[in-house]
Amino acid sequence: MILIIDDKPENLYSLKTILSLHSFPVDTAESGEEALKKVLKNSYALIILDVQMPGMDGFEVAEALSGYSKSKDIPIIFLSAASTEKRFITKGYTSGGIDYITKPIDPDILLLKVKTFYKLFEQTRQLNEMQDILRSEIEFRKQAQAEINAKAQELRSTLESIPQLAFTTRDSGQIEYTNSQWLEYQHNSYQFPVTHPDDPEIAPAFLAALTLGRPFELEVRIKKKAENEYRYHLMRVLPARENDVIVRWVGTFTDIEDQKQAIKRKDEFISIASHELKTPLTTIKAYVQLLERMTEDGTAKNYVERTLFQVKKLDTLITDLLDISRIESGKMKFDKKEFEFEPMLAGAIDMARQTYPDFNFAREGAAQAEVFGDDTRLEQVLVNFISNAVKYSRGRKEVCIQAKSDSDKLMISVKDFGIGIPKEYQADLFKKFYRVEETTTHAQGLGIGLYICSEILDRHDCKYGVESEPDHGSTFYFSIPIINHS
Ligand code: ADP
Repeated sequence: MILIIDDKPENLYSLKTILSLHSFPVDTAESGEEALKKVLKNSYALIILDVQMPGMDGFEVAEALSGYSKSKDIPIIFLSAASTEKRFITKGYTSGGIDYITKPIDPDILLLKVKTFYKLFEQTRQLNEMQDILRSEIEFRKQAQAEINAKAQELRSTLESIPQLAFTTRDSGQIEYTNSQWLEYQHNSYQFPVTHPDDPEIAPAFLAALTLGRPFELEVRIKKKAENEYRYHLMRVLPARENDVIVRWVGTFTDIEDQKQAIKRKDEFISIASHELKTPLTTIKAYVQLLERMTEDGTAKNYVERTLFQVKKLDTLITDLLDISRIESGKMKFDKKEFEFEPMLAGAIDMARQTYPDFNFAREGAAQAEVFGDDTRLEQVLVNFISNAVKYSRGRKEVCIQAKSDSDKLMISVKDFGIGIPKEYQADLFKKFYRVEETTTHAQGLGIGLYICSEILDRHDCKYGVESEPDHGSTFYFSIPIINHS
């Protein structure tokens, strides 16, 4: 808006008309005092100021305006009676844009000057705005940088305080920081420690995993520069994200040699113990079986039968433990050949009927197919699924075994109507030593049966799983590739 200050209403009127005709918004004041009040209240792009006025004259008004921070930069066009007054004008008002027009006013010249000042004002305003934006942007960046530096510093002091080797890398995987422990393992802090000749190199494995953007874990043997012994370390690296973008990776190497040794000793113990237990138990089983055949007396026969039942349970437990140690040491053997599935399935069900005479085993479908695998091991899976169905049946003495086939695979499922398994536990069932907490009160067990099943099924390229609902029962299933339909 333009402010015109003139004591003569007719001058105000004519100037206002000229400017309004050219679409300039205009405000007027009839005295210097009124003008000063208006300037404090409103924002003006330009002031047209009459020099000769009663009371405050134009120079005094200009001087006053130059004293307010709000108005000191507003350009002024003085209206003066003679060009000689110009020297007074510049004296009073130095900082803002300044010009003058002598009376009588030539409207073309006035418009030209107003337009020039107005444009100048607009450009200055835009420039100031840009400057403000830039200033706040610089401020913001400075602050962000300071925050990043503070965070990095905090992270580094944390990593410095832990006993593990620790490092951070850029998003590209290039090492940017290592803690002081690092130099005990490597001469420089921009390379990963050297691994045991039989273990993979760290850098290529890590770089390959980077592209996936997921946490990375690797067990490798590394050693201190001053020592000859390699020790197992767990390398674990996590991505650090800002606004969902990975900005760096933070990793540690934790010495797990002692745990590894403890696990090895435990595995060796399980292996030795189960072998040692197995031998006398086999003899006991043979004698009890002999005794069973020889015993005529009803009560004694009953006792012998019960003993045999418990001995068989013990035998299964020890066999499972032996299997576990075979899996751990990679020594589980499979004698694979082509065989008919149906007789094996029928045999397993017959055996279940004999072992659990008060249960009803229903059959659906036939497994008329030839598959390739170790029949004894696959039967072990079936027996395990069936005995679990019995074990977790909670009074519903019914089990349904179904066989279904399509063109290339045979699907076997064992369904019970027992306690069922909550959804959140189902994914872990096939893990070693896993037992659902709630079921431990229903039946004893070591939590290794399904783990062995999973190992056997994996080695036969089988798909397997469970569908279950608490209190409605479970269905354990697997599918195996068919070689021939019979
Ligand atoms: P174990 O039965 O000796 O504990 P498994 O490896 O055979 O070990 O089974 C692991 C766990 O899975 C069991 O402890 C039990 O919690 C659950 N589970 C297995 N089969 C069933 C089933 N048919 N119904 C309910 N829970 C089951």
